Amino acid sequence: MPVEPATAERAEELVHNYEDIANQVSQATQRRGPGTQPRLVVVTKLKPSSDIKALYDHGVRHCGENYPQELEAKAKEASHAPRLGKRSWTLRLTCGPFLWRPIPNLFAIETLTSVKAANHLESTLSSLSPPRSTPLNIFIQINTSGEEQKAGLPALSAASDSDSSSSSSPNEVVDVAVHILTQCPHLRLRGLMTIGSFDSSTSAHPNPDFERLKETRTALLSALRGRDDVKDRVAELEHEAEGGLELSMGMSNDFVEAIEQGSTNVRVGSSIMGARPPRHAT
Ligand SMILES: *Cc1c(COP(=O)(O)O)cnc(C)c1O
Repeated sequence: MPVEPATAERAEELVHNYEDIANQVSQATQRRGPGTQPRLVVVTKLKPSSDIKALYDHGVRHCGENYPQELEAKAKEASHAPRLGKRSWTLRLTCGPFLWRPIPNLFAIETLTSVKAANHLESTLSSLSPPRSTPLNIFIQINTSGEEQKAGLPALSAASDSDSSSSSSPNEVVDVAVHILTQCPHLRLRGLMTIGSFDSSTSAHPNPDFERLKETRTALLSALRGRDDVKDRVAELEHEAEGGLELSMGMSNDFVEAIEQGSTNVRVGSSIMGARPPRHAT
């Protein structure tokens, strides 16, 4: 079914908001120093496909969804719309457990937290016909604030990956990363993602959640470097353009600070799309 166009007024509003945020992203990147600009993912969850189409027509290629069923429905609509060809369309799931049905043009999943989920994705992707032409990018979600209601694996401390002061299973992140690198050819370990606490994003500077995500990255890379089975892959992760293993951090409230602290991927929803409607049970 074709995607209805947004009204001219709505399209203008979206483009205006997007340009405003994109400018702030550029300015924050310049303040940080030389280097690649972070990817700006527009979080379109609970907003209609007509909004996505208006942004797409403006050149936006990274949209984030949160709910697998909604993502699937929107991907289907996009693939049927004449101007939203399957090939160039990129959707990325920024949150939610993991998809259970294949979406051929999915760019990344940012919420992986277990070997089990990795295996599920790997087997889904390996049975795809036609197969994907590239591996699916994976960000491992880290619960940097330790809040109970937040998903994600515990953060690692930069001091030492064998730090005994941390929780009972301090190497879960390492285990999941090694599993992806050695057992999941259809997945590509791309980075780490955090949401962070509301308090951290409003009161503390620099944001301690973002610092914890950076420390986790450092500790993970150092743990991987020490393992014979993945040593070669670590070199790849470190040599990829601009920092290798990415940091996905920063949302509407705190993306500027996240960029200043080293984010390579910001996920901005309400500042571009406006307030979201309440989520209805279907
Ligand atoms: C909804 C959502 C966002 C966007 O949040 P805003 O505050 O509206 O910018 C970013 N990341 C994830 C994981 C989300 O679920």
